[in-house]
Amino acid sequence: MSRILVLPGDGIGPEIVAEALKVLERVGEIGGLDLEIDQGLIGGAAHDAAGHPYPEATRGAARRADAILLGAVGGPQYESLERDLRPERGLLGIRSDLGLFANLRPAILYPQLASASTLKPEVVSGLDILIVRELTGGIYFGQPRGIEERGGERYGFNTAAYSESEIERIARVGFEAAMKRGKRLCSVDKANVLEVSELWREVVERVGKEFPEVELSHMYVDNAAMQLVRDPKQFDVMVTGNMFGDILSDAAAMLTGSIGMLPSASLNSEGVGLYEPIHGSAPDIAGQGKANPMATVLSVAMLLRHSLNRNDLAERIEQAVGRVLDQGLRTPDIFGEGMTLVGTQGMGDALVAALDD
Ligand code: NAD
Repeated sequence: MSRILVLPGDGIGPEIVAEALKVLERVGEIGGLDLEIDQGLIGGAAHDAAGHPYPEATRGAARRADAILLGAVGGPQYESLERDLRPERGLLGIRSDLGLFANLRPAILYPQLASASTLKPEVVSGLDILIVRELTGGIYFGQPRGIEERGGERYGFNTAAYSESEIERIARVGFEAAMKRGKRLCSVDKANVLEVSELWREVVERVGKEFPEVELSHMYVDNAAMQLVRDPKQFDVMVTGNMFGDILSDAAAMLTGSIGMLPSASLNSEGVGLYEPIHGSAPDIAGQGKANPMATVLSVAMLLRHSLNRNDLAERIEQAVGRVLDQGLRTPDIFGEGMTLVGTQGMGDALVAALDD
């Protein structure tokens, strides 16, 4: 049995998660999955009901779960709360509590939506890359750090540091992800300047010996940024550290031009994962039935692939998304001339139906 914890959160969160759950339940029937699905509170909704954005009950349920599906958190009504009670603290809380060190960010552009990108359609149409970013180490967490007085002026400093074991475990996630896809991994570093990158490259090479089927390459981060906008389809999986990954994954997401279509996963060393769309709670359209549920539905596909090891069912969902786009169905965020406008529920129903096609 697999335990799934569902945390709808705020804004459009409950609307999009409801549609994703319909898809998960149907795909569970098709694939014979034994699922125990539990619902919990996070973010502003948790603060309203329980006085904290990451309440004890949610913490306990998260620690028992095999996988967590999250909608989004946040909203203008929570902005005046003290920092520790704000919705985002709920997200940070669950990420650090579960030790989610690997962030997987696919950038997929369905050919049907190629005109949404700011790049030429032929450069991005059919794009399907995955960026694996280390999430709990590197320069964002390295010690020492601070701002202090030195030689009569203020001096700011951070430390870019990775241990061999930290590099090894994220490299392994990169190789394993590549094995489930096109079997090509590009490791991004700055080994020509940084010692931490020198070690990174050496350890990635070493781990690569365990994955002889994966074609490993290395690229300096400045070149990787350039190649992502010049010819993004050359990549399959990219693996990189925290700061480089932060920047490259946002650039890659924007290649697709449609925020309502992109899922993400954050994994720990036991394979437990938190799956969520990359977008926020979209308070401007919340409660209006206009939100695109596809990023959350595609997060369910990632959940099946990475926590439940059911690549077959993940692909079934991804194909259903393609089929619904082929049918011309569009929520307002991806609407274009000649297409059929549908709401959140209409899109969810069409996706469920397309699973059986
Ligand atoms: P946002 O991603 O919520 O919205 C940006 C724009 O994209 C809005 O116009 C919104 O309507 C649209 N949009 C987003 N998702 C959509 C979808 N599924 N379908 C259709 N349109 C969609 O970003 P924001 O407006 O900067 O932030 C709103 C709130 O969300 C803030 O409180 C912010 O802190 C929070 N936030 C949460 C997360 C998260 O939960 N992981 C991430 C980013 C922002």
